[in-house]
Amino acid sequence: MKNVLHPLVLKFGGTSVGTPEAMQQAVSVVCNEVKRGESVVVVTSALSGVTNLLLEATERAAESGQADPQVADRIAMAHEAIINALLPPNRRETVQRLITERVQAFLRLLEAIAVLGEVTPRAYDAIASLGERMSAPLFAEVLRARDVPSEYVDAAEIIRTDANFRNAQPNFELSASLINSRLRPLLNAETVPVVTGFIGATEDGLTTTLGRGGSDYTAALLGAALQAREVNIYTDVNGVMSADPRIVPKARTLPRLSYREVAELAYFGAKVLHPKTIRPVIERGIPLRVRNTFNPKGDDTLIVPRSEATPGTAKAVTLIRNLSLITVEGRGMLGVPGVAARTFAAVAQTDTSVVLITQASSEQSITFAVAADAAGKVVNALEEAFKAEIERRDIDRVAAVTPIAVVTVVGAGMQHTVGVAGRLFTALGKAGVNIIAIAQGSSEVAISFAVDEADAEKAVRAVHRLTMASA
Ligand code: ASP
Ligand code: MG
Repeated sequence: MKNVLHPLVLKFGGTSVGTPEAMQQAVSVVCNEVKRGESVVVVTSALSGVTNLLLEATERAAESGQADPQVADRIAMAHEAIINALLPPNRRETVQRLITERVQAFLRLLEAIAVLGEVTPRAYDAIASLGERMSAPLFAEVLRARDVPSEYVDAAEIIRTDANFRNAQPNFELSASLINSRLRPLLNAETVPVVTGFIGATEDGLTTTLGRGGSDYTAALLGAALQAREVNIYTDVNGVMSADPRIVPKARTLPRLSYREVAELAYFGAKVLHPKTIRPVIERGIPLRVRNTFNPKGDDTLIVPRSEATPGTAKAVTLIRNLSLITVEGRGMLGVPGVAARTFAAVAQTDTSVVLITQASSEQSITFAVAADAAGKVVNALEEAFKAEIERRDIDRVAAVTPIAVVTVVGAGMQHTVGVAGRLFTALGKAGVNIIAIAQGSSEVAISFAVDEADAEKAVRAVHRLTMASA
């Protein structure tokens, strides 16, 4: 008997459905779970790269006044490759027609935007949603071709959001009841719902999106609403790794990671789950696992509410490249309240987000990191904000050092442990890495430091050796 009360939610990212081979793998994962007696709900992203293609073409159309039909062809071809490789001829027609309709809808929207010369947030979401509105019906058809009963479900029917286009906030209660009334009957009939990730709709039925990468959010919302047995996020690596394997070949899969650690890793540049998107399941104690579509039996990562950390250990190391370190410096700053507030107010006006902040206890300088391409406007804004102080020489200078990288070590085991920072900086010193600035979050779950971009990979490897040794 299938466990229909607690289904398994399987979410596939873009690279898991981007080519015929990938889609074949993803569909096999679903088939195997169904064969094992699981009651399954699928959530899928757009084919890899499709959302970017849609949105880049949209922005270009608004700027240039011209719609680019080549992008539409490329998108159509990516889907046709899968249709032709994975569906027998007698099953191609319906889904092919649907893809063609979507591509034509895209072209019409693109032309309207070209004429108007601007994209409204609402039009932006209408276009952004098209990728999932092609991948999900295709996924469902491929499942049916493999004799797994399945049905395509447009998430606009079941995820109710506010009207904050491009980054809409779901209403969980409303959505949960829609999800249950739409999906329960399918599950009871042993039919696999294949749901579009990333999208929702307002009360008035206007399409919204949940923010880039939002398919994980969809999976978590469905998992929470359906009281899933587990939510599995399928990607193209073995779970969450201790470092980027391209930099650290010995990087390994982290078997368990706390919600807090996920948040720190995501913030500091690791390509993992966005913490906001997984909260619905974490709060309800539903297990969330990150798995590899291309190696489903390989190592995976289980996300747990709280860490069961081994004291003294760090878990993972991340890297954000291409930053600029900006310093506001001057003897006249000493003891003057409000300098920090004015500094970050000026930065905020430029719409730039700050990655790391440190202030020396002498209070004679504030240093922070921003994206390198924002450095120019940030320095200008600061010079403007402190014009009077600069003239009076209370502030000597506003300087930017570029390019730098921020390396972050994450692990709840570092909490309340003496000597972690000491070991860390000793190891970096031995590796010949010069540290330009250091910051530790008050949570003590992460320590970050800025290094010269040229030293970045060396620093990551040195820190990783240390985490391996202490683990
Ligand atoms: N396709 C959307 C994006 O690229 C959503 C997702 O993949 O999660 O952002
Ligand atoms: Mg994604």
